[in-house]
Amino acid sequence: MHEMSLMAEVLRLVEEDAIERGIVKVDRISVIVGELSNVLPDALELAFCYFQKQECSLISKKTELAIIREEAKARCKECRKEFAPDYRIALCPHCHQLNTEIISGESFQIESYEGSESCEDNNGR
Ligand SMILES: [Zn+2]
Repeated sequence: MHEMSLMAEVLRLVEEDAIERGIVKVDRISVIVGELSNVLPDALELAFCYFQKQECSLISKKTELAIIREEAKARCKECRKEFAPDYRIALCPHCHQLNTEIISGESFQIESYEGSESCEDNNGR
């Protein structure tokens, strides 16, 4: 399950950035998972649950993971039409040429994350 190492990488990046920005608690992480990215959303969530239980980082049981699915889309270089491919290598359904390119659906990236800074400042008054 390579989702485990992907999730570890996501959390490492978020954590690094959060520490720099003085964020002590991460509330929500949004990741974009393309339909052709070979990343299984279910496995990704399982991996996330595993890390939630570790309690050694900025994420806790209250942290949410939002998975944004990116549609698979390809364009035919012959007839210029767009279509939804099932695989990375796709035959154009319009002119049946193999000269096609994937234009979306291969992403795996962190879209954004939300966190809270320490509330010490507000309690100071
Ligand atoms: Zn075509």
